Amino acid sequence: MALGEFDLIGKYFGPLGRQAGGAGEVVVGIGDDAAVLAVPPGMQLVASLDTLVEGRHFRRGAPAGSVGHRALAVNLSDLAAMGAQPAWYLLSLTLPEVDEAWLAGFVAGMDALARRSGIRLVGGDTTRGPLAIAVQVMGLVPAGRALLRSGARPGDLLYVSGAPGEAAAGLALALAGATGDDPDGAGRTHLLHRFHYPEPRLALGQALRGLASACIDVSDGLAADALHLAQESGCGLFIDVQQLPLGEQLLAASGERLAREQALSGGDDYELCFTLPAARAGELPARLGAAGGVAHCIGRMEATPGLRLACGGVPYALQRLGFDHFPAGG
Ligand code: ADP
Ligand code: MG
Repeated sequence: MALGEFDLIGKYFGPLGRQAGGAGEVVVGIGDDAAVLAVPPGMQLVASLDTLVEGRHFRRGAPAGSVGHRALAVNLSDLAAMGAQPAWYLLSLTLPEVDEAWLAGFVAGMDALARRSGIRLVGGDTTRGPLAIAVQVMGLVPAGRALLRSGARPGDLLYVSGAPGEAAAGLALALAGATGDDPDGAGRTHLLHRFHYPEPRLALGQALRGLASACIDVSDGLAADALHLAQESGCGLFIDVQQLPLGEQLLAASGERLAREQALSGGDDYELCFTLPAARAGELPARLGAAGGVAHCIGRMEATPGLRLACGGVPYALQRLGFDHFPAGG
């Protein structure tokens, strides 16, 4: 490697470790054999790890800033789904070569999101090989108050935040060769941005503590992830397809039929899907207001296991449930 491993770490990753603020105290950060972190009294540590492999999770030649953003965003989204406040992260980077222009873009994308989210880099590993990025995030939650997938009960209302389907529409545009500065209009640029720079719903997740009975982030597709939540909760669910919040740009790019499919089974949205007891639905607007978020009721939990969909009272057949890296028989 042109730039030595330690110079590379010092130049590109050291600054991410010196950022001020954040939820948790760093006793020892980057540079020793391991980090030493102080979990405040009364808090629990919430940890998660996600890996991004070139050609699998992002396209060869994807903008470096988007790859850096996404590697952290998909992890932060897991903290959001648990209602946790971001504190620390570790980065394992496997690089085919030292491409400083790529590294600078990657770090800039990651750093911008890290600063906004109040999360600090405390260590990692740097090796040579096919391009892959693994990030481990750690967050904090008041003891016993993490949001789980398993708390939903029959009769609970089902919600989704934001505008599901836009990332899938953005991916379709990217695959068709559109770029971020497409002169073709704000709509297409918005969808591409939603794919390249998913926004973890951190404030919303924390605002839902004590109200949501269950929560999951939407990475594989809304229908598939809502079904995961239902299965973990030991119940089933009903989704009213007409209640899906379809954005103007999504409808313009995809048309209603495809937009519905993208909202239900397109992955990569990183919105939150959550449930709450119907009797407490009136408390949601204040929580959304506090978090600066939006969410729409799209269905309800039912005692009978499985997923049922209807559109205007007519049963709705989903083309594809969601994304699976190891599909049965695949
Ligand atoms: P060791 O051989 O003891 O694992 P390394 O040489 O891998 O040590 O790492 C030295 C220090 O640099 C450690 O504190 C490690 O956490 C940090 N580090 C290595 N790679 C990264 C990276 N990509 N991002 C952040 N910190 C890193
Ligand atoms: Mg190491």
